[in-house]
Amino acid sequence: MNSSPAFATASHSQELPSPTVLRRFDVAGPRYTSYPTADRFVDAFTADDYVQAVHQRAATGMNGRPLSLYVHLPFCESLCYYCACNKIVTRHKHWAVEYLDYLEREVALQVAELGRGAMVSQLHLGGGTPTFLDDEGLARLLEMLGREFTLSPEREQSIEIDPRTVDGARLERLAAMGFNRLSFGVQDFDPDVQKAVHRIQPAAEVFDLMASARALGYRSINIDLIYGLPKQSRASFDRTLAQVCELRPDRIALYAYAHLPERFKPQRRIAAEDLPDAKTKVEMLSRAIAAFTAAGYVYIGMDHFALPDDPLAIAKRQGRLHRNFQGYSTQPDCDLVALGVSAIGRVGATYSQNAKTLEEYYDLLDQGRLPVVRGLALTRDDVLRRAVIMAIMCQGHVDFEAISLAHLVDFRDHFAPELVALGPLIAQGLVHITDHDIEVTPTGWFFVRAVAMVFDRYLQADRNRTRFSRIV
Ligand code: SF4
Repeated sequence: MNSSPAFATASHSQELPSPTVLRRFDVAGPRYTSYPTADRFVDAFTADDYVQAVHQRAATGMNGRPLSLYVHLPFCESLCYYCACNKIVTRHKHWAVEYLDYLEREVALQVAELGRGAMVSQLHLGGGTPTFLDDEGLARLLEMLGREFTLSPEREQSIEIDPRTVDGARLERLAAMGFNRLSFGVQDFDPDVQKAVHRIQPAAEVFDLMASARALGYRSINIDLIYGLPKQSRASFDRTLAQVCELRPDRIALYAYAHLPERFKPQRRIAAEDLPDAKTKVEMLSRAIAAFTAAGYVYIGMDHFALPDDPLAIAKRQGRLHRNFQGYSTQPDCDLVALGVSAIGRVGATYSQNAKTLEEYYDLLDQGRLPVVRGLALTRDDVLRRAVIMAIMCQGHVDFEAISLAHLVDFRDHFAPELVALGPLIAQGLVHITDHDIEVTPTGWFFVRAVAMVFDRYLQADRNRTRFSRIV
């Protein structure tokens, strides 16, 4: 495995790929928070298929294993122009009350299949803006989940925070509700950038919130950043990086902005000429990596950094990293029950997704039906490739024998075409192959998705990659 942080060297900048390599390997690619990726889900997978997977879970004795719960809360008070999430922008707070009524019906339908009192070791509220719900709304949600599931006292209970919607007192009330992990959406501290993306949140307020969160004992506090936003320059982003290092969150998620206005309507409000070019984006990524490593952060993977004593960094050192819909995680793979509009779950060898519009979601629940409208039952080949792709994404390392034994294949034989296809990446020093394994090199981590993509059977069949975000 790649035991050393990919960029944790003083000569980090010398490991930057050349412009030629960038031009060649900077291809569009999935983020592999799942494999197969969500765009491969099919309408032929129905709520009945989901129910069958849940019953199979019970039949194979998996019911005793803890679950992960995800609740999607889609409302936001104002629109960020870079947004590519499934959200509903409204100032009508009472919409959340109606939404909770429907969530309650969905929970009842889920519990009818899963059985009452299933143990939950992880609960995550995402959005949208989960804190669009007021205290009463969040308390009602937690009460309904606590009534139907057994929320482990040791559970991770996390929530995505839009800093514009909370203050220290609210963080205190969230802690009292059992939340122990926070993720702040910062994106960029520069006022011009914030104006260009329609998300104004003064740095001082975020610093105050962070101080409150620490005083309240929240663990693994995460900050989300985005590079490639309009009006960002190397100099402005350097200032944001310095502020983030001063803020010293336990974790940093650094995402590349993908400008796809034809696909995401809010992005049409961003002027293409305000966007940094590809070369500047690569430099911003490189400077971010250098700044965070110099500040003591461990490079976890394609978009995550963590302080060395954070569980994510420890898991990376011990080869125990996982990847799920929230990105990198320390939690072993467990079944994920997803609630709410557009939410994606994973049970056994299936993925399932709820209706994407509120109208359809409500309509199905009005009919007393689970709102699952698409998904995928993984084939044996999907499960095998998922293991290989996750090994690349999480460890930067694939052990042929381990995969061969676990999946009853001869790796070199089975993946002979893929090993040949890795040739250009090997030639550029991005990957090493021996008789026993594949290892992603430090420079190769820039292109870890490109390495994983070689093993993606769906991409092999469909080279139309323009729908995905750029790699760097
Ligand atoms: S980026 Fe987040 S807060 Fe902004 S509109 Fe999208 S979901 Fe809402």
